[in-house]
Amino acid sequence: MALIVQKYGGTSVGTPERIQNVAEKIIRTKDAGHDVVAVVSAMSGETNRLIELAKSLHPNPPARLMDLLLATGEQVTVSLLGIALDNRGYDTRCYTGAQVRILTDSAHGKARIQEIDAKVVTEDLKHGRISVVAGFQGVDAVGAITTLGRGGSDTTAVALAAALKADECQIYTDVDGVYTTDPRVVSKARRLERITFEEMLEMASLGSKILQIRAVEFAGKFHVPLRVLSTFEEGPGTLITFEDETMEEPLISGIAFNRDEAKLTVIGVPDRPGIAGAILGPVSDANIEVDMIVQNISQSGLTDFTFTVHRNEYERTLEILQKACSDLGAREVFGDTKIVKLSLVGVGMRSHAGVATTMFKALANEGINIQMISTSEIKISVVIDEKYLELGVRALHSAFGLDDEDAQVQVEGRDAG
Ligand code: ASP
Ligand code: MG
Repeated sequence: MALIVQKYGGTSVGTPERIQNVAEKIIRTKDAGHDVVAVVSAMSGETNRLIELAKSLHPNPPARLMDLLLATGEQVTVSLLGIALDNRGYDTRCYTGAQVRILTDSAHGKARIQEIDAKVVTEDLKHGRISVVAGFQGVDAVGAITTLGRGGSDTTAVALAAALKADECQIYTDVDGVYTTDPRVVSKARRLERITFEEMLEMASLGSKILQIRAVEFAGKFHVPLRVLSTFEEGPGTLITFEDETMEEPLISGIAFNRDEAKLTVIGVPDRPGIAGAILGPVSDANIEVDMIVQNISQSGLTDFTFTVHRNEYERTLEILQKACSDLGAREVFGDTKIVKLSLVGVGMRSHAGVATTMFKALANEGINIQMISTSEIKISVVIDEKYLELGVRALHSAFGLDDEDAQVQVEGRDAG
């Protein structure tokens, strides 16, 4: 017998029929002998509908009132789910965030959980009752209702699971797990049985569509095993967990990609100490986040410098850079928004050399030119022309044997260290 926190997202509770289906799933878990605490989102589309209503009355509604308003979406679904469970004869208690004492700071719209008392839930569990808790919301020290940011119900579920020391936190959604890459790009993408917290965070560009990244961080920090699974199909889903020392980790777990970056290049800047800071200083002063950075070694006393930013920041960065670089005496500044970043992610690459070579060869075989490279312990990223996105992801997916469970991966110098 285990204690399981189950979180059901907006699509899973989007209609009365679907709420009925969720009630059945909870009952099945309960009848199998487990303790269940359910966390629910608002019905799909509801949070957006409420935001639109507010915006029709005020161009910039006060955050405190937005929280009071948005929290109603989840209050509807906890009640309806409780009503469905009651109709099936199951003793159920339903709560808003404030009633479970999910205490947060007062940062309305993006509040952080500080403490969960959850005494009412512990009491329910003692008496064999099912607890249903509203996701996405809490209460601050002065009793004001707060919300945790869009997608915040995932964080509620994980935080509650941590507070209750649950055996597992299950995130039920409309996909049946985490995939090796986006199945819309690679039809041979397959569901992962398990993935580490670290990898999941690196795969943010894929994973964030499935669950709130903050929830993954939280689960990693508080050692809550997380499982992503489908509300609509039976299956084991994907377990997000810690590295298993007794098991050989797969070399590569997945391939993430990001279409949201743009590249900027400064040509012919005097190569001297302080130049990188002088170029990037005005960019970071403008609060623009820089991702990849490349600077070459110059022979002629001049150097080239390239970096990437979010595509939305491209115009602004270009302007800032043009100004900074005329001050620095650079020859030319230019940029490119038609790029994408592909990333190989896998904790297995920590102990294997040659992963990068395999990656570069696979791209070269397709005639894809690599424009920038960056590496971390468990990730290798490259920037390529956006028109090769699909081809590149597919080539890497098969080069690393992700297409087929039984495929043998040939990695250059795999035993080299
Ligand atoms: N209902 C909120 C949202 O749409 C919270 C959630 O669904 O997790 O962002
Ligand atoms: Mg969600």
